Amino acid sequence: MKYCSECASPVSLSIPAGDNRPRYVCANCAAIHYQNPKMVLGSIPVWQRDGELQVLLCKRAIEPRYGYWTLPAGFMENNETTAEAAIRETEEEAGAHIKLGNLFTLLNVAHVHQVHMFYLAELLDLDFQPGEESLEVQLFSEKDIPWDDLAFPTIRTTLELFFADRIKIREGGSYGFHTQDITRAMRADIEPAA
Ligand SMILES: [Zn+2]
Repeated sequence: MKYCSECASPVSLSIPAGDNRPRYVCANCAAIHYQNPKMVLGSIPVWQRDGELQVLLCKRAIEPRYGYWTLPAGFMENNETTAEAAIRETEEEAGAHIKLGNLFTLLNVAHVHQVHMFYLAELLDLDFQPGEESLEVQLFSEKDIPWDDLAFPTIRTTLELFFADRIKIREGGSYGFHTQDITRAMRADIEPAA
């Protein structure tokens, strides 16, 4: 951040009185510009076909991770709930209509200042198509999930937890709610240096 969004004067980093970490502070109008984590909301849209469960993934048409597969997800907007954000992102990226279920994962991605959340979801129909930010949208059975071409560690983690819970469900269990911390090392695991 270089300029104050209140008065357009240059800002500088300093620790405000009573605070304990550096903030962008405006020397002209004294505004303190706090920066806090962003919320990324998405869904795990599923469709049952001949007793087999399939998951809807989107191939990204934007950077970062152009051409890699993701669950429909994106940044939460002001004035919407987490559930509304998950439904909107699924509609925007996959053109898909869903019935939202329970929150399934809450993943802290502290090193990029984000929190990712994914809801369980049922596709209401097969009338989906790529939105502006997707190249393709496709249903995948577990054995066909493109594990080596997933866009982000939170997508891999969510899908791994999802299919692990499917095994529990076959044994009479139910979906859990999972929270994990995604580290930089996990990111390197999925995005090896070129
Ligand atoms: Zn200012």
